[in-house]
Amino acid sequence: MPNLDVPTMSADQLQAGRMRLARPVLPLARLVEILFLSGPFATAAEVLAELNEPIETAAIRYPAPAATLTPHLDLLGEFERLKDPRPASYTVLAPDGETLPLLEAVEAWVAQKILTRELEAINSLLCGPGGCALCCQGPTADMRQDFFAIPLSAAEVGLFPLPCHDSPASRRLTADSEPPLAVAGRPFFAAPAGLYHWRDGWGMILPRRTSCPQLGADGVCAIYPQRPQVCRRPQIFAYRLEQAAREVAETVTVWVERGKLLAVWDCPYVRALRPEIAAYAEACELEPIFKENKA
Ligand code: SF4
Ligand code: SF4
Repeated sequence: MPNLDVPTMSADQLQAGRMRLARPVLPLARLVEILFLSGPFATAAEVLAELNEPIETAAIRYPAPAATLTPHLDLLGEFERLKDPRPASYTVLAPDGETLPLLEAVEAWVAQKILTRELEAINSLLCGPGGCALCCQGPTADMRQDFFAIPLSAAEVGLFPLPCHDSPASRRLTADSEPPLAVAGRPFFAAPAGLYHWRDGWGMILPRRTSCPQLGADGVCAIYPQRPQVCRRPQIFAYRLEQAAREVAETVTVWVERGKLLAVWDCPYVRALRPEIAAYAEACELEPIFKENKA
């Protein structure tokens, strides 16, 4: 089993992510919205074409605003619905369940999508260079959990050479069901690491003191470019909106306003960059929440 100590990250390893955290896209996206609504623009692209000079806010300087915003033009185009209403694929509720007016709903949806994309990019800059493999292992002996579960899509299951448990019993239960699924007469998490088809989808179960079979002895993922979607997710999560359990129609997603940024405290880059993450949240008008996942 590889060495799974959580390493301390050096200033150099943190620098690229730190720079992105210091210059969030969302304040610029808000500026695009204001200009679009107050000016003679038909599209968000027309607004971007005007943003050729550096822009300075109270705390942040954007040397090339159009270049920063261009990768998000597909999302900024959503503002166009405010001048040219068309059916939406989502609805946004306030925490009390009231439906938000169109302007607030569009603002919140665009913010959630931009934050999610940006934080995934920041995660890729920070996770990897540090040689940390905390997300690729089961609980250590001193943790209270019996296992960690890594959700997988059906297409990702084949990436892992592990025993497969797919039975009517597994499909009736989830990894958190009580009593737990039995494998060879014992709780499933007493068996070696494996792939399970649960009621809510596939997952890799990593019991105590096990690790993902794709984690090399050097602590590096052997399938990094093809790693599953869940392994690409950041430890700093956009929680501006939360997807609600219900749908108003098959084609309409319901979101609920939360206004938060979640950062998982177990991750070494979250620990190292706490002030920068808090400043990022403030610039995006979000409340930062630091929480521990694995303890
Ligand atoms: S696939 Fe790679 S990144 Fe994902 S858990 Fe396994 S070793 Fe870690
Ligand atoms: S996301 Fe954080 S905790 Fe997970 S492997 Fe990367 S650096 Fe480690």
